[in-house]
Amino acid sequence: MTKQKVNTIYLLGAGRSGTTMLATILNNHPKIYTIGEMHQFLDYVLEDKDCSCGENLSKCPFWSSILMDLDASILKNKSNVDLSNSLEKHHFIPLYLLGKPIPPKYREIIDMIFKAIQSNIDKPWILDSSKYNSRYLLLRKNKKLNLKGIYLVRDVRGVINSFGKNVQTPKKPLSAILYYSIINFWSQWICFFDKRIIKIRYEDFVNEPEKTIQKIEKHLFDSTSKVSNLTNETFKIPHIIAGNRLRSQKQLVIKKDMKWKETITRGNQILYYFLTLPLMLLNKYKP
Ligand SMILES: [Zn+2]
Repeated sequence: MTKQKVNTIYLLGAGRSGTTMLATILNNHPKIYTIGEMHQFLDYVLEDKDCSCGENLSKCPFWSSILMDLDASILKNKSNVDLSNSLEKHHFIPLYLLGKPIPPKYREIIDMIFKAIQSNIDKPWILDSSKYNSRYLLLRKNKKLNLKGIYLVRDVRGVINSFGKNVQTPKKPLSAILYYSIINFWSQWICFFDKRIIKIRYEDFVNEPEKTIQKIEKHLFDSTSKVSNLTNETFKIPHIIAGNRLRSQKQLVIKKDMKWKETITRGNQILYYFLTLPLMLLNKYKP
């Protein structure tokens, strides 16, 4: 039975927590194929947006062959795109946790897309880095997926500092804190009850990437491989949907971004820490 299921890894967490970096590095793994933030896939198809390689999806060497395996009349139907976008909104999270069923149309679209991707790649696992908790809960109800999760959490001050930089969606500190608290509250809640998910701290990942990758491997595959030194290695950016500005580069290296310790005043560091105290304590961050 398991053979027919599509092996899917889902990345959860707040934006600016290093998810694109982790997803790119995991793509380097012989068993994992990273495809990006798939909650935006239908919008990307509808508007023929750019893949990270710079080509429109219809011209991209990876996505164009997948698109040929998909039914365009379902994919490019605006009402399906709207249905998918509305079902993945954050306010549905409590309802999904209470058992709200998935509409068959949504299930059918997901099955079609993941099956087409699986038949076009040569690795056993697909990594969807959408981050949305609601989408994870929808995928979790899908019996045709063999789902595992990775929840990436980062010190709130690193997230605030990153949102303050020149990014696509900048946020002021207080709105970053609100966003951070809501997303991480739900990710934490889901992770707590769902043994399919492993929690990883951004800081552990950038400090000891090899050890962290092995921890992830153990969780996903119940085995570990010999991981070579990743710190000075460059990683090719795969053909990913959406993601942050890293995607416009061609490759990346593991970057340990702890600049918040210099850019945020000590007073504000303590203030932000106490505003998110339960999450900071739970994840063993120090003031
Ligand atoms: Zn591409």
